[in-house]
Amino acid sequence: MAGEDDSPDLPSDGVADGDRAERQMRFLFQLRSRGVTDPRVLAAMERIDRGAFVRGHFEDRAYEDTPLPIACGQTISQPSVVGLMTQALNPGPRDTVLEVGTGSGYQAAILSVLCRRVLTVDRHRRLVAEAEELFRRLGLTNITTRVADGSFGLPEQAPFDRIMVTAAAEDPPGPLLSQLKVGGIMVVPVGQSDAVQTLIRVTRTETGFAYDEMRQVRFVPLVEGLGQT
Ligand code: SAH
Repeated sequence: MAGEDDSPDLPSDGVADGDRAERQMRFLFQLRSRGVTDPRVLAAMERIDRGAFVRGHFEDRAYEDTPLPIACGQTISQPSVVGLMTQALNPGPRDTVLEVGTGSGYQAAILSVLCRRVLTVDRHRRLVAEAEELFRRLGLTNITTRVADGSFGLPEQAPFDRIMVTAAAEDPPGPLLSQLKVGGIMVVPVGQSDAVQTLIRVTRTETGFAYDEMRQVRFVPLVEGLGQT
């Protein structure tokens, strides 16, 4: 009969509750052992299932601490890097956050649990459409998406309490710096696109900007203009 389920003791995704709990425990243990210690960040990462953001071939590797390919030749970041960047951003519950580089939508989803509002932009229309659909399905109503070249930020929505850039720039883009509130924080990987980059945290002070170098990372480059798809 059409629609008949021959394994009625398993939920629709085919994973038994016990297996899911164990997978989740391993995922969180891995994050902690790589330095993600902020309880709010861990709780957000426990709540947002990375498996929902990885499709096709690589689905069964969604809980490994590794970046994975997504559509348009882009990647979903490594979970521990997502955790460390979120921790460094230190978003508060009343904050409005701009994310540049929606990709799969995973980072935006985690931010949406931690702050009031998330605006996320990507230069690929297809990625934005797919992420938007996921946010709707997951009931994450405080995320607004935009197809745009994020290196210019979103001047009409600025200033922001926090800015997270998830693609590598040669330098922190000027428009993004100017769209940061005083006291605001931006986390951005900086360096040549084909090499290892340095993750930096920029804090806007009354008089200028303070820069903190965090660690080496490897991100896809921040590219000018809109994508073909
Ligand atoms: N944060 C994502 C991973 C981002 S991968 C996640 O959680 O899955 C980097 C993304 O940055 C890619 O989707 C790429 O299309 C996007 N990107 C690169 N340059 C951009 C630009 N100038 N403006 C907006 N998005 C850009």
